[in-house]
Amino acid sequence: MAETLADAVSRRRTFAIIAHPDAGKTTLTEKLLLFGGAIQLAGEVKAKKDRIQTRSDWMKIERERGISVVTSVMTFEYGGNVFNILDTPGHEDFADDTYRTLTAVDAAVMVIDAAKGIEPRTLKLFEVCRMRDIPIITFINKMDRESRDPFEILDEVEEKLALDTAPITWPIGRSKSFCGSYYLAENTVRGADTQVEALKVNGPQAVADRLPENERAAFIEETELAIEACRPFDRQAFLEGHMTPVFFGSALRNYGVRDLIDALGAMAPPPRDQVADIRTVHASEDKMTAFVFKIQANMDPNHRDRIAFARICSGKLERGMKARLARTGKQLGLTAPQFFFASQRQLADTAYAGDVVGIPNHGTLRIGDTLTEGEPLVFQGVPNFSPEILRRVRLEDAMKAKKLKEALQQMAEEGVVQLFSPEDGSPAIVGVVGALQLDVLKERLQGEYGLPVSFDMARFSICRWVSSDEPGELDRFITARRGDIARDLDGDPVFLAQDGFSLNYEADRWKAIKMVAIKEYH
Ligand code: GDP
Repeated sequence: MAETLADAVSRRRTFAIIAHPDAGKTTLTEKLLLFGGAIQLAGEVKAKKDRIQTRSDWMKIERERGISVVTSVMTFEYGGNVFNILDTPGHEDFADDTYRTLTAVDAAVMVIDAAKGIEPRTLKLFEVCRMRDIPIITFINKMDRESRDPFEILDEVEEKLALDTAPITWPIGRSKSFCGSYYLAENTVRGADTQVEALKVNGPQAVADRLPENERAAFIEETELAIEACRPFDRQAFLEGHMTPVFFGSALRNYGVRDLIDALGAMAPPPRDQVADIRTVHASEDKMTAFVFKIQANMDPNHRDRIAFARICSGKLERGMKARLARTGKQLGLTAPQFFFASQRQLADTAYAGDVVGIPNHGTLRIGDTLTEGEPLVFQGVPNFSPEILRRVRLEDAMKAKKLKEALQQMAEEGVVQLFSPEDGSPAIVGVVGALQLDVLKERLQGEYGLPVSFDMARFSICRWVSSDEPGELDRFITARRGDIARDLDGDPVFLAQDGFSLNYEADRWKAIKMVAIKEYH
């Protein structure tokens, strides 16, 4: 029997994993994929070197630096649910990419290193999730090593993130003796992840003999305390982003991963409603709607293609259908949408709300674009962050200026850099959030376009989008400050300031001009 749209939607779980580098995000992702049969690894995790080559072989800079630069999506099925993991770059220099990806998820898994607790990147990413009320499941990883006391870690989450915690499991043992999870509310236990069902037991004392003798009394006492004193899980508070269910495990040693995946199925929300300019779109509506949150070019050097990653928000995407691109009003044929499974891709015949498909195109699609089955609506809220670093691109070979212009335009459309064209006609300025993005730009201009470039300091260091509610005021400002005004990719004006002092000075003088650091795509 054919599945109804509502059933298909209710089975979807679309989430990201947020973590400070080294907390175990890659290892956990692999283990989740392993459960879904999306990848086959024999036992232990492969060496990191191998992994990076298989994961994203397309960019030299990634291999050299051993970091994941790009965001990608991985899909797998488990226990009747379809899981879409949206991968985010760990390095903070690619923060804008990560933030945009977080606009396309319904939940997040926050991985914390049990010895280190909340680290700076965890905190930052958490704040973005909170801004968007994304529900968070916490996974305390590396319990097989020396770790902090679990109560202390919970306290830290509560204090640093102002987030209530509800431990669902409690670790059985610590470091060398760590051997499984105790479900506090149910009094059930699961040893390693190979055990599918959790087993009913008669309280913590019933499993204490799994531990060395000298640890048993402490385990019983502590677990009983956790049962008594910890907050019970409140799904509503979780969905609103005020409470996080907590799991303990070791991704490397295969503990707690099944607990987590069960929780994603049972607790995490199905695809949410999505706010558009004219109304809110519900995930189980008939008509297909989607938005683009990421563009990636040249993923496969053999096919120099450009993939737009679109999150479906409602309806059913079928291969071959036509969709309306809101920005231009034109129809776009979706002839070859793709799904991603670990390192492979495959044609997507049908996709539902929550799914992410890659749409190959030659520059038609941009970040923030809305696609619909017909209705002219536009989704809100894919942000553009004001760059921290502004540079002029210097070309070694002046004859290639036109080629450079095209290349920069493409890179900007992909979201690799932001491009600003000064009103006074001087050479374009590129803006990035982190310095590594400049390295990526340089590398790609050389590798893909044969354009060796270097970067010059621009006399500006701050960039703000400007607008005004008072008619004529913006034009007056632009005329008065012409030498400091540039246009972004959409033609929207930005004010370029030398430093914070001059920004404040101008903001003070031009009270009717709004100067903002975050622009939402439209
Ligand atoms: P990422 O930077 O967050 O993606 O972290 P990785 O998954 O690459 O893990 C960083 C390091 O921690 C690697 O050496 C992993 O093998 C190791 N690691 C990950 N999970 C665990 C774990 O549960 N226990 C132990 N002992 N090591 C782990």
